Amino acid sequence: MSLSDITDRIRTTEDRCDREVGSVTLVAVSKKQPDARVEDVLGQGHRIFGENQVQEAAGKWPSFRDQFDNVALHLIGPLQTNKARQAVELFDVIETLDRPKLAATLGRLAQERGASPDIFVQVNTGEEQQKAGITPRETSTFVKDCRALDLPIVGLMCIPPVDEEPALHFALLAKLARENGLDGLSMGMSADFETAIAQGATHIRVGSAIFGERVTN
Ligand SMILES: *Cc1c(COP(=O)(O)O)cnc(C)c1O
Repeated sequence: MSLSDITDRIRTTEDRCDREVGSVTLVAVSKKQPDARVEDVLGQGHRIFGENQVQEAAGKWPSFRDQFDNVALHLIGPLQTNKARQAVELFDVIETLDRPKLAATLGRLAQERGASPDIFVQVNTGEEQQKAGITPRETSTFVKDCRALDLPIVGLMCIPPVDEEPALHFALLAKLARENGLDGLSMGMSADFETAIAQGATHIRVGSAIFGERVTN
């Protein structure tokens, strides 16, 4: 697989699902990838990337940003409150707002800076104990509370349980977004992004299918 294979598959799926071609945003997940692979994808003109750790992103993206203009970075992993300041300085989008305390901290930072990254609320659609996210039942109240803090909530994000049919989780996330007047839907990864597009994903997060297997460290 490569970037162009994935963008072709996205276009084909948009077309097949009667969605406007170009309406799905590809977030290329560059976590734990060698710099050369990321530079290759930047060189092909792609500019939207996802990282799951603040520290790793802070180590590599400043220099990529010196070399390439208009990079947009999405945080797609859990955010500790004590890293929130660094995160809002580094990321254009935070996809993983998953608890009230973090909302309060991001709200304070937004007031102080007069700006905030766009934010997705992470929903734990499978209600898995070990997974981050707001439960489906609490989503409406949480979104209202975030809006009261003046946070720019643009959508919902989910990571379905590994052993379940992802389409059911994508459909649930789409329903919750509709109920809350949210347009953004971040869902779908290498193995299931076409299913996610069929269910209305506006943002898909694809790593290994673009870059190859991650280098563990
Ligand atoms: C790593 C990761 C991805 C990308 O996974 P692939 O299977 O490599 O496409 C997407 N979303 C999140 C939240 C991730 O942590």
